[in-house]
Amino acid sequence: MAKSKRVTVEDADKYMDKQGKEFVLKAREVFPERTDRPAVKIKTQVEQEDLDKLIDFAKGLGAKDGKAMSAKDVVTNELMRLKCRIPTCWGYQSSFFCPPETATAEEMRDIIDDYDTVLLLSIPPSNDESYAVRFEAMNKVKEIVGRTEVESQYTGYINSMGFTGGPCSICGIYSQEWVDAFRSGGNAPQCPLYTKESPLCLQYYRCRPAAQAVGIDMYMTARNAGWEEHLYPPMPVQGGRIEWPCLPGVYPILIG
Ligand code: SF4
Repeated sequence: MAKSKRVTVEDADKYMDKQGKEFVLKAREVFPERTDRPAVKIKTQVEQEDLDKLIDFAKGLGAKDGKAMSAKDVVTNELMRLKCRIPTCWGYQSSFFCPPETATAEEMRDIIDDYDTVLLLSIPPSNDESYAVRFEAMNKVKEIVGRTEVESQYTGYINSMGFTGGPCSICGIYSQEWVDAFRSGGNAPQCPLYTKESPLCLQYYRCRPAAQAVGIDMYMTARNAGWEEHLYPPMPVQGGRIEWPCLPGVYPILIG
């Protein structure tokens, strides 16, 4: 089975030189498309009308539904981060978006307590046999949450922050090619920023840590919202293993 090739800084430099400045600028703007907007008025009180618009925005990107609730009802628990380590997820220590790099549940509780409102988005995961399809669905969660968070900031809630599911893989480090290599004994890939092989990520609009990675218990949080029907249990995979408890189907964006 072919091993996936990791791109080095030299490779990236050569590639960028060959492509030229226009390519670099284009790549940075690739997602989302650039839209010029007037400067926003910073809002300190969350307005229902804005929440409704954000839910519509997320639905337009592919979310099934959205619901706002008090940030006090978000449940935090350090056990969530332990779940990334036991049994060890292949994403563990793969980037700045996975434990042990992420905020602890205690740190996150302090942060959440500064917010009044959280917006929950329902985005069902894929249980397709192909990891390529599953990772694509995981990347879609990051796209929807990341863009809705940015939209919330444009609306005036400049400290909005969203959380997703699964390890960061927007740039394709978890491609089908890599999964095949890993399953036949290859190394787990790491984010080129994390390994200092690259100085920048071109996908920063979309990269957000999993809620689980910062100690947010989305199963209990969704229950508090009366949204149990939007939850998906961790997926059974080969060998009876359970994996991906970090893709519960419901994801939070702190609005503020
Ligand atoms: S380079 Fe960007 S998209 Fe790729 S793993 Fe790192 S942070 Fe995520």
